[in-house]
Amino acid sequence: MELACLDLEGVLIPEIWIKFAEKTGIDALRLTTRDEPNYDKLMQMRLRILREHALGLPQIQEVIATLDPLPGAAEFVNWLRQHFQLVILSDTYYEFAMPLMRKLGNPTLFCHRLETDEHGTVTNYVLRQSDPKRNAVKAFHGLNYRVIAAGDSYNDISMLSEADAGILFHAPDKVSADYPQFPSVHTYEELREEFCKASRFKIA
Ligand SMILES: [Mg+2]
Repeated sequence: MELACLDLEGVLIPEIWIKFAEKTGIDALRLTTRDEPNYDKLMQMRLRILREHALGLPQIQEVIATLDPLPGAAEFVNWLRQHFQLVILSDTYYEFAMPLMRKLGNPTLFCHRLETDEHGTVTNYVLRQSDPKRNAVKAFHGLNYRVIAAGDSYNDISMLSEADAGILFHAPDKVSADYPQFPSVHTYEELREEFCKASRFKIA
């Protein structure tokens, strides 16, 4: 049995916070872990900015619903699901990703969640577990699945390393250079070929 694990942002959809910052014109929401490496500080700052702009979850989801998956992503997911059981392992939040997941045919998604109060204000974020991508692949191995994984950035490396085969997709040059053990490709056509190569089955 083989399972495909895909990262979400940068692989199938744009970076949600960046796109959200562009759509709303709130520049401060463009900051990422590259600017503020302390994730908790970064998230507390994001939640504060959302509150300051009176953006509750319904307004946020309205903006996110105007975003689209990357061109070719939905077709790729459709192909992948014909040959593998697909699980998306992401560091996003269900409440943010759902409008975009619908456009991808609602594949299985393991990610984090947000807490809101009765007004829809986002009050807190809840991480599913620590090192969630690696732990998911470990658990799938415990269920006797062989895992082929693809992701685009540093937060995917533990997943790619734990998987039976790891593939970098849309990765910045720095990431590919730091991890030359993983094939690095940039189009869905090439990604499809890498999945075919990594599979123990003959698929096309
Ligand atoms: Mg990513």
